[in-house]
Amino acid sequence: MIKFHPSEEYLFNYVTGELSPAMLMMVGTHVDMCPQCANTAQEMETALANKLFGQAQLPEEFEAGNEGFDGAAMLAEIMAQTPQQHDDKVVKLSNELILEGKRFELPATLARNHHRIGQWQKLIGKMWRAPVQVGGQDVLTMIYMAENTRVAEHTHKGNEATLVVNGVFNDETSEYRDGDIMFLDGKVKHTPETRQEDCLTLAALDAPMHFTSGVSRLLNPFSSLFFK
Ligand SMILES: [Zn+2]
Repeated sequence: MIKFHPSEEYLFNYVTGELSPAMLMMVGTHVDMCPQCANTAQEMETALANKLFGQAQLPEEFEAGNEGFDGAAMLAEIMAQTPQQHDDKVVKLSNELILEGKRFELPATLARNHHRIGQWQKLIGKMWRAPVQVGGQDVLTMIYMAENTRVAEHTHKGNEATLVVNGVFNDETSEYRDGDIMFLDGKVKHTPETRQEDCLTLAALDAPMHFTSGVSRLLNPFSSLFFK
């Protein structure tokens, strides 16, 4: 059961495409995994489409002169062009990711963008990272943490969004499982860790991380976790 969802504002901006490429990917992946948000997004799409194409009666002379005009068919055609229904062939080819001998099934949005996932690099401890090339200012990264792995306590200068693709991680305030999405601003300090289970996440950052504890400052290479 997913506990943490994007706000309605995020969902609305997802539907209208007014998010950064990194956040479109994050919210899109959550929507793939979350029937509740998929439903809300669908309702928003319908409401928007009605506002754009429907509802208002067409003037009679317009209707008379445009017998071939089929608003419903036009709308259906437009909806069919949304990416979700689009690339079935690609999805079948690349919806799995193999890492450390484990096989992960990727949600549709990530599967369609599999080719954007770069080289995996092993980091300190049992963590792996791969950049996701999406363009735009934000940095999008896939991070894999094996069991019993901890990221040094840190804050962010900007906003961080993290989505659990598969597995479980904890921080001081909660536990996050498949599909959970969390948003942190620069004020929050946190120490993500895995326990008995491993965790594959997608993380979007709009500014570099800033480590807060003394020891982790010595581990400066750690900030290369997200930034090359
Ligand atoms: Zn949701």
